[in-house]
Amino acid sequence: MSKVVLKVKFPGNCNGCELCVMEVQKQAGKIGLDGSLIRILRENDSGGLSFVVDMDPKVNEVDIEKIAKICPTGVFEIQDLVEENNGLLE
Ligand code: SF4
Repeated sequence: MSKVVLKVKFPGNCNGCELCVMEVQKQAGKIGLDGSLIRILRENDSGGLSFVVDMDPKVNEVDIEKIAKICPTGVFEIQDLVEENNGLLE
């Protein structure tokens, strides 16, 4: 059976807008950012401000296609685990 998961493919594209956080919270029926399955962490590196997308594996239990689509900068990718492992996973 096919299993799809949400992956952070282009972390450098993240602009910190937190639309993905709001979407995951909306799906979980939660208000605010507390306890979100996705967190956006701000980091100050040598080149200035950058963002790290931190995801709880439980994020794959919600509508990940919607989360991938809502990101304005294309950070996410939906991956098919079966294809990636040449059908070794079921
Ligand atoms: S929606 Fe995309 S750009 Fe916005 S915080 Fe989430 S990953 Fe970053």
